[in-house]
Amino acid sequence: VQRIAVLTSGGDSPGMNAAIRAVVRKAIFHGLEVIGIQRGFGGFIEADMGPMNLSSVADIIHRGGTILRTARSEEFKTPEGRAKAFANVQRFGIQGLVVIGGDGSFRGADIFNSEYNLPVVGVPGTIDNDITGTEYSIGFDTAINTVVEAINKIRDTATSHERTFILEVMGRESGYIALMAGLAGGAESILIPELRHSMDEVCEKLVRGYKRGKLHSIIIVAEGAASGLEVGRQIREKTGLETKVTILGHLQRGGTPTAFDRILASRMGAKAVEILMDGCRKQMVGMVGGNIVAGPLDNAFKGKRPIEMDIFNLANILSI
Ligand code: ADP
Repeated sequence: VQRIAVLTSGGDSPGMNAAIRAVVRKAIFHGLEVIGIQRGFGGFIEADMGPMNLSSVADIIHRGGTILRTARSEEFKTPEGRAKAFANVQRFGIQGLVVIGGDGSFRGADIFNSEYNLPVVGVPGTIDNDITGTEYSIGFDTAINTVVEAINKIRDTATSHERTFILEVMGRESGYIALMAGLAGGAESILIPELRHSMDEVCEKLVRGYKRGKLHSIIIVAEGAASGLEVGRQIREKTGLETKVTILGHLQRGGTPTAFDRILASRMGAKAVEILMDGCRKQMVGMVGGNIVAGPLDNAFKGKRPIEMDIFNLANILSI
């Protein structure tokens, strides 16, 4: 392998830049050339790409988002779109591709590999942490720290006013952000899309807590489980308690990546280059048991990652 390419695709996540930096510098360290592709598979199709050097990735390790930008490309889902991308593979002499993104991006990379046999490596970058085959994806730690910071601030005002606060967080299909931030922030109840929840039980727990002398309660809702506003309305109706709803939204996507995410991204980006140099055809980088490993790419989209019930149960016990 002499020349590889790197792109970021799908939803952005904090730490993607640290991963790009690692891919570029690790590759150059081993004498490879690196092509940076802009706007994900969109730029791949449109030849929006060019060589990167050591200084292309200077001063980015601490920046959220991605300097290569990201996009969703409907055209890449068509054979015609992918044929255009392959023409650019030939034109630029690309011998391996690192795709930093989520399971949708890996699916695209997998199909492209089956059609054109270009070696591809997936690096999991998504705040949702919903990718099978890795314990952590790049950006998740930053996102939950953002949520915990919000919980801390809400807790200050909640204590002063004796109110029930509802915090809606990201996670259309995955409750990982809600679960982990809820555990770290000491939320009273955590509503996630993976589990059915009963508003009656949520309300009973709330009322029990207030009777015992709790000054406030925080309920964390993944957007895929329910709308925060709707949860607030139901609690008000069922209990008569005053509720305040905060929807965190895209705040959770941004911010300077935490040390954890930078380290994870640096290790994963470097591993992706090693995998390509080893001559692998189709792999995904993951963290398993604290180690950075190579695994099958299709793990990521074969099945949905199950939620860790022991953590959910623990959060419930501790928030009694
Ligand atoms: P994420 O990678 O964050 O899960 P998406 O699911 O939006 O994000 O996927 C990102 C991009 O990956 C899509 O816009 C598309 O270009 C490509 N992709 C996703 N699924 C497929 C597929 N089945 N075939 C080809 N390309 C795909």
